[in-house]
Amino acid sequence: MSILTSLSHAQESRYSFEKGMMGSPFKLVFYAKNDSIANIAAQSAFKRIEKLNEILSDYRDGSEINMLSAQSGSGKWVPVSDDLFNILAISQDISKKTDGAFDATLGPVVQMWRHATRKGVFPQETEIREAMSKTGYTKMKLDSKAKRVFLSQKGMRLDIGGLGKGFAAEEAVKVLKSFGIKSIMMDAGGKIVLTNPPPGTKGWNITISNGSDSLKTMALSHIALATSGPTYRYMEYNGIRYSHIVDPKTGIGLLFHVRTTAISPDGTVADALATAFSVAGIEKSKKIIALFPDSKVWLVEKQGEHVADWNTLE
Ligand code: AMP
Ligand code: MG
Repeated sequence: MSILTSLSHAQESRYSFEKGMMGSPFKLVFYAKNDSIANIAAQSAFKRIEKLNEILSDYRDGSEINMLSAQSGSGKWVPVSDDLFNILAISQDISKKTDGAFDATLGPVVQMWRHATRKGVFPQETEIREAMSKTGYTKMKLDSKAKRVFLSQKGMRLDIGGLGKGFAAEEAVKVLKSFGIKSIMMDAGGKIVLTNPPPGTKGWNITISNGSDSLKTMALSHIALATSGPTYRYMEYNGIRYSHIVDPKTGIGLLFHVRTTAISPDGTVADALATAFSVAGIEKSKKIIALFPDSKVWLVEKQGEHVADWNTLE
């Protein structure tokens, strides 16, 4: 083999794939030696996400998570798959560290708001109270030895929408790595996991916004970032916009949140933190972030007529 061909063999090309998954556009960019490796790797990664969606989707009656919720209040410890157990374990850890700002048991409240948004009718106070009475992360217990879950109250409904895409992005990246692919950017609907930089560069150029006029582009690698915001998904009633992110203390969609970006070594944690910081707001998040020394945040919220901005990304 001549030096020239071995050089060209060593060279990798950029590949890009896109697919609508989990209700959002998922985009995969990576560097691989040839088309056939790239295609099979991308297909395998998307297949892994489809499998996860079958387990984690709260839109599917037969999903493992919905079948688990259906057994709430039965007094039984329910054995679950490793995937479901792992995501619930991360979720519970974040709930504890954020004093419940992140809460995967908000399903009944999220369902109520989805229904209200479709009908364009604001829920009655009694409805909100009723849905809220079936929530609370302390009502979910985990047995890490036997990988079992206990949901103490009837009518509970788990919703991992606040960290599921970050988890899916991490898992897709693991699949790509198993094909020997090293430079990867997986964007799962705004929850992004990055590995090595593109060959010959310092990092992936990622542009982060505050939701309106301010943009920041950074060259990043070996890190994850997630953005949460009510840009597309919100309920409007009497001219007031309520975010699809719910405050677990009130059962009502956030009113003051503009946009949050969290950066963490792990995609699932970044996703959960972007949601949790949005709920906690700037002042409380300043205390919470002390528990996540490897994480950074850019949080924008409305405070009366002003827009307040807290940024630790620098
Ligand atoms: P994200 O875009 O990651 O902020 O996720 C938003 C989704 O998380 C919502 O559509 C709900 O399914 C779910 N969710 C809403 N409020 C919360 C909350 N306080 N904690 C955890 N998940 C939530
Ligand atoms: Mg999130």
